[in-house]
Amino acid sequence: MLIIDKGGKVIHKRIKLKISLLIEKRPMSKVRGIIVHQTGGSTAKSVFNSYNSGKSGAHFLIDKDGTIYQTASLIRQTWHVGKLRSRCLAEMKCSPTELNLLKNFDPSGTHRRETAKNVPGRYPSNQDSIGIEIVGQALPVNEPDPDKRTYEALTKEQNDSLKWLIQKLRLSLKVPLTEIFRHPAVSYKNKTEAATASW
Ligand SMILES: [Zn+2]
Repeated sequence: MLIIDKGGKVIHKRIKLKISLLIEKRPMSKVRGIIVHQTGGSTAKSVFNSYNSGKSGAHFLIDKDGTIYQTASLIRQTWHVGKLRSRCLAEMKCSPTELNLLKNFDPSGTHRRETAKNVPGRYPSNQDSIGIEIVGQALPVNEPDPDKRTYEALTKEQNDSLKWLIQKLRLSLKVPLTEIFRHPAVSYKNKTEAATASW
């Protein structure tokens, strides 16, 4: 079990605290899932710089050499998911009414309907999930269409750290394995993001 202090910070020698206060949003009372990402940049430094803008962010960052940083409190939401995909569609459990609504591609409408549901009826969202970012570029960087780029493979050190971190978080926060996803599974992202991540 991880020791998590009252402020939502993990106390462990393997995790370096580097909290970016600006990416911490509303309080998060319950963690229901974990979302795994790749950053799109080549360094951890570029991520820390972007966190100074105070917009999107995640709770952890895993550098190329496997170093794990905690970048936001676990009792605060961060913006790392975006618009939710329909979970019932992926699991072939939608009602006929909902299937009908899904015929039109309308990410905002779908997100609104999903948000009204509870996990596991929907995917974990910004409201109730921990985000783990892994440093990794989408290549080639000069490809203008982001969907045509391919995220580079995780290093062995990154995958080892990811496995360790997910295992610890899962047991400490009682998150079932079925609620851990790669970003493109839950939102409209490049399909190769975190494709080589395993846990
Ligand atoms: Zn992502």
